[in-house]
Amino acid sequence: MRIVLVGPPGAGKGTQAQFIASHLSIPKISTGDIFRANVSEGTELGRKAKEYMDRGDLVPDEVTIAMVRDRLGEPDARDGFLLDGFPRNVPQAETLKKMLAEWDTRIDVVLDLVVDEEEVVRRLSGRRMCDSCGEISHVDFDDKHDDVCDECGGHLFQRDDDKEEVIRHRLEVYRRETAPLVQFYGDEGVLVEIEATGSVEEVTRRALGALAPLEK
Ligand code: AMP
Repeated sequence: MRIVLVGPPGAGKGTQAQFIASHLSIPKISTGDIFRANVSEGTELGRKAKEYMDRGDLVPDEVTIAMVRDRLGEPDARDGFLLDGFPRNVPQAETLKKMLAEWDTRIDVVLDLVVDEEEVVRRLSGRRMCDSCGEISHVDFDDKHDDVCDECGGHLFQRDDDKEEVIRHRLEVYRRETAPLVQFYGDEGVLVEIEATGSVEEVTRRALGALAPLEK
């Protein structure tokens, strides 16, 4: 199955992407993760992306699209994939559609994770990431209130783009650039809305429930 996850920053896309992709045994392709890996490895791509990411702006389409084209061309993505964080605007969605048509295929379903904006600010401003294993946690759910990763003992840090003023800017970018994808994929007849509040498990159950009729 070929799946796209959309939804505002903080809707839980990364977490849900992980569960859904492993349930369906397809690769999770997260453009944000690929950019962050390139930034920390100090590659040319990372250098190009960093200034945009730090501001909460979108990395230019030509850079992002070339990266996604390379990744989708890899053998593990041939029979299905889950895209997390791409497309992020209508031109990217149109390019993805053309790219897949060249390979005689298309997106089967787009899951739109729906969540209120204030909830997003609360979730993201408390979010912490481990600098060693990449695990994501939240200050509200960490009873120890230390900056040590429960999974591997690594150091927890706040992403620069999870600071409140950057979150507000990312939400503006989302409203302007990404929200129109709901209309785009609605017109394509592949959009399914998933209520993204409640526990992680509940949201996963709703998402897998929506995908079940499409599983062969
Ligand atoms: P994310 O982890 O999905 O929130 O992505 C973090 C940052 O990476 C975004 O704020 C953008 O700067 C950049 N990014 C990720 N995906 C895309 C995309 N499809 N197009 C442009 N920029 C992106």
